[in-house]
Amino acid sequence: MTSAVPTSPRWVDFHCHLDLYRDHQDLIRECDAEKIVTLGVTTTPKAFARNVEMAMGYPYTLVGLGLHPQLVAERADELPIFEKLLSRARYVGEIGLDAGPRYYSSFQEQRRVFERILRACDEHGGKILSIHSVRAVSKVLKELDLHLRNKTCVPVLHWFTGTKSEATRAIELGCYFSLNVEMVRSEKMHALLRALPIDRLLTETDGPFVTFDERPARPTDIPSTVALLAKLRGIDSTRLADQITSNLASMLSPTPGASINRQLRLFKTT
Ligand code: MN
Repeated sequence: MTSAVPTSPRWVDFHCHLDLYRDHQDLIRECDAEKIVTLGVTTTPKAFARNVEMAMGYPYTLVGLGLHPQLVAERADELPIFEKLLSRARYVGEIGLDAGPRYYSSFQEQRRVFERILRACDEHGGKILSIHSVRAVSKVLKELDLHLRNKTCVPVLHWFTGTKSEATRAIELGCYFSLNVEMVRSEKMHALLRALPIDRLLTETDGPFVTFDERPARPTDIPSTVALLAKLRGIDSTRLADQITSNLASMLSPTPGASINRQLRLFKTT
């Protein structure tokens, strides 16, 4: 197994639950073969080590250290493990808040955990965060504003469903948006998908929760999502694909002109 540096990334899947697929290792191989930079998010800190091990030697797969808001009710006691592992993680996610009816009873606990995570990330600095915000967009933005004070971390809003004014606020706070095919399928999202600034766009699958052709979406479905988004925005699909990989590069480094290859080498899993 080599730890080759990626040559030229073509696609970005910035939120995929790789470890929830039976063929986890095959997906990692596909990402390398197709040059898809994929962030494998985790839902509990205990899953992190195994994910890092699986991705070792595969430069296109990145691993996030996560504590999913929907699991906070049962897993809040893993917060010390999260804090212990944080120095090894460049990427953090899935984290966030969920105020949907099923998880509302844990909302106060979710806020406490989210605040602790954000403060820890801010203290370490330089983390890239993949954030869930179901029915809680304005609360999530408020927490980002309050707790990411040093501005060295980059928040990525995964499956954003907020209003246009919330999007404006998110942009002011330096957020990126990772867009998936389910968002493109939702007509009421179209105006927003057209309006988001092109230099803040990333793509994601959120597989296996999102389906594609009636099976769980895979990172290799990203080209189709890019094509649909390009059509929606009335631009060339190749241009959008290039823009998204260059957005990833700028997100990973504020240094203008730094090559994505160098960035990926620097920011590989840990
Ligand atoms: Mn997810």
